[in-house]
Amino acid sequence: MNVRAPVEFFPALTATSVCRHAFIERVRGIDVSHDKTEALKRLDVVHREARHEIGMADWPLLTAQQIHGDKIATVDQPVARDKEFAGCDGLITNQKRIALGIHVADCCAIYIVDPKMPAIGLVHSGKKGTERAIVSKAIQQMREHFRSDPAELIVQLSPCIRPPHYEIDFAAKIIEQCRAAGAKNIHDPGVCTACDTDRYYSYRAEKGKTGRMLALLGLV
Ligand SMILES: [Zn+2]
Repeated sequence: MNVRAPVEFFPALTATSVCRHAFIERVRGIDVSHDKTEALKRLDVVHREARHEIGMADWPLLTAQQIHGDKIATVDQPVARDKEFAGCDGLITNQKRIALGIHVADCCAIYIVDPKMPAIGLVHSGKKGTERAIVSKAIQQMREHFRSDPAELIVQLSPCIRPPHYEIDFAAKIIEQCRAAGAKNIHDPGVCTACDTDRYYSYRAEKGKTGRMLALLGLV
């Protein structure tokens, strides 16, 4: 069966010429309510195919293990093949033609673009990651490694779960953390994943029987 992935783009990121990005939404035609392991495997295949349409087909895909921690991998050397970074929940790079990938299903994926250096970051921040201020750490790490000026950064939040579907408004906390770190250009679609399970996966709304969206970001 031919299954296509619906892809969402964010205007603030489309407006900059230094990067390509995408947010791959819920994929219809893959049943996640029965055999979740099999569904996630099929989802991975569809996600890989979607990278062709986004113009990242031959770019290595770098992902994080995503343990709800605050460690961020720094990639400052060319990379030849796909890799998952153990113990990490975020990635930053100044290398071109590498796709950073973060999976979410209620948590927030945060895209960070420094069009000046250029450099990018992609972070997974849910309840725990936000408590640990992982986005602040990512911005700090981009300052240290790539001399990024926080005032120049474009920050984009993905759809994520929000009140009243979730007791904590971590998206609002993420925005506060970005502002405190010196970012000024912050964009939030204000969309709740649990409000629209036709379009998004929601771990909470679907009681764990769900797939994952994929956030992708890479420097051209
Ligand atoms: Zn909601």
